[in-house]
Amino acid sequence: MDAELHRLIESFARRGGNLLVVTGEGVAEECGVASFRSDARPFVYEGKSYDVRTLMTYELFDQAPGAVWAWHLRRLAEVRRGQPGLVHQAAARAAERLGDRLRVVTECVDGLHRRCQHPAEGLFEPQGNLFFMRCAEGCTPALYPVPDGLLGRTAQQPFTAPDMDLLRCPVCGGPTRPHILWRDESYDEPFYGVNSVLEAARRSELLVMAGFSGHTNLANKVAWEFTHNHRARIVDINPDPNPVAALARRIGGLAYQSAPSALLPEIFDVYAAAAS
Ligand SMILES: [Zn+2]
Repeated sequence: MDAELHRLIESFARRGGNLLVVTGEGVAEECGVASFRSDARPFVYEGKSYDVRTLMTYELFDQAPGAVWAWHLRRLAEVRRGQPGLVHQAAARAAERLGDRLRVVTECVDGLHRRCQHPAEGLFEPQGNLFFMRCAEGCTPALYPVPDGLLGRTAQQPFTAPDMDLLRCPVCGGPTRPHILWRDESYDEPFYGVNSVLEAARRSELLVMAGFSGHTNLANKVAWEFTHNHRARIVDINPDPNPVAALARRIGGLAYQSAPSALLPEIFDVYAAAAS
């Protein structure tokens, strides 16, 4: 960490402000979880070929729930092979020390923060989480873990009647769906915490964006929210050029073309030490 970044982190922590961290696909990629956006493989289910982009829509779920579930289960199997990395571990440690002075928002659906025992009250997953399902009819806001009995099946295997029983809502007996914000849906508070995320952005003075893909709307909105507060600063850490880097510099923050794990764990440690 250079001296300028160290000074910035320490001064915000000592002033008593809140820290908001957005972890993006660049963080997941360091843990061996590839973005679905780079997935060009055709997906075939019951002899029919599907475009990846349509598999992330409510429209297709309505017509072909088996294909949509089978694809999400394939993604889940891949994500389960990834392991939480230095960023997830440092985030969970800092969350224990900082309490409500730290909020972490992830644009990833890989569940890596939760798998690192990150305290639930300080973590937002506004794109959803592949490890969970919920009632497709919305009869309850409850989330249920995807049943173990579905994890070993291959993507091409058609769903059997016992499989379908595992995918029933425990409350109304109707179908469940993956807990994922699809491309033709909007953020809401009950399932995705949109208001809570924006409120956390308004209550924080320092934003660290790490490995942000530039593709998720809410993370973009969070960054813009910081431009309305003249005391707020953004630090962007990303191996790839992205629009937040310019925004960060414009409001007096810093941008690093770097792997998230090279800087973010130290940022958490310096902030937590200076805040205590
Ligand atoms: Zn239900």
